[in-house]
Amino acid sequence: MPFHLNAKLINIDKIRENLFKFSIEAKEIAETAKSGQFIEIRVSDEIEPLLRRPISIFNIRKDENIVEFIFEVRGKGTKILSQKQIGDKIDVIGPLGYGTFNTENIKNAVIIAGGIGSFPLYNLAKELKNIANTNIYLGFKNKDVVVLEKEFEEVCNKLKITTDDGSYGIKGFAINVLEEDLKKQEKPDIIYACGPLPMLKRVQELAKSLNIPCQISLEEKMACGMGVCLGCAVKTSNSSKENPEYMHVCKAGPVFWSEDVEI
Ligand SMILES: Cc1cc2nc3c(=O)[nH]c(=O)nc-3n(C[C@H](O)[C@H](O)[C@H](O)COP(=O)(O)OP(=O)(O)OC[C@H]3O[C@@H](n4cnc5c(N)ncnc54)[C@H](O)[C@@H]3O)c2cc1C
Repeated sequence: MPFHLNAKLINIDKIRENLFKFSIEAKEIAETAKSGQFIEIRVSDEIEPLLRRPISIFNIRKDENIVEFIFEVRGKGTKILSQKQIGDKIDVIGPLGYGTFNTENIKNAVIIAGGIGSFPLYNLAKELKNIANTNIYLGFKNKDVVVLEKEFEEVCNKLKITTDDGSYGIKGFAINVLEEDLKKQEKPDIIYACGPLPMLKRVQELAKSLNIPCQISLEEKMACGMGVCLGCAVKTSNSSKENPEYMHVCKAGPVFWSEDVEI
């Protein structure tokens, strides 16, 4: 069940220009959130912007009643959010989303993310640390936008960073490196992914061809976050031109089994 809180902002970490990690005191959310869920933030008391902004939960610090999220300044809403100060109250609803990451019976896992898609996967990696061998592949455009290397390194067995231009780590796309590795290694029990749609499509195809279960987290444009406005529809894999079928990212997702959705 989601809670509506005025959560105190207790820490701000400016990771780089226009990229912030916020830590908020949110007992009810910290106690109940699952990896893969998100919160909806009302960034201002003014009429504009009226719609809440969906942001993934990056880290659940359950014992301290703290929830952390990382966001990039993209437009008006995230700009206003970035101007908050320590001690300010933030109007949040969460945890939201019914589709969450499944870690039951997982012994060998792969996580693959592109760019800011790594944020919703960190808490999952932390959760897997004690139960599975996890190999993580993070892809970025270039060296300047590589983030969270140390954080992910601490919670996995092997981390591979790629950059499109080769300015850091391995040159090329993370999905190509994963594909090559999977030719040489034992198949993992599951692949978890989040990132740009072309990357997710390739992950979906790879998982299908190797018969590996796969969960993907989608970040469709979303308004209400609670299944009321129906703005964040994605086509199901059963969908056809004649009979289109949809699910909603905010309700059914944001995490889906990859075979269930058409990317
Ligand atoms: C489930 C989910 C989780 C997300 N997690 C993160 C995260 O952890 N970190 C992060 O930086 N961003 C995340 N996003 C994207 C983030 O919600 C948008 O960047 C943000 O809403 C932009 O708002 P804005 O007012 O700054 O931009 P504007 O472009 O001015 O926003 C206008 C409207 O479009 C919507 N919108 C714009 N871009 C997006 C987008 N890419 N996805 C969804 N809605 C959008 C906004 O909600 C708003 O209603 C997530 C999106 C979803 C759906």
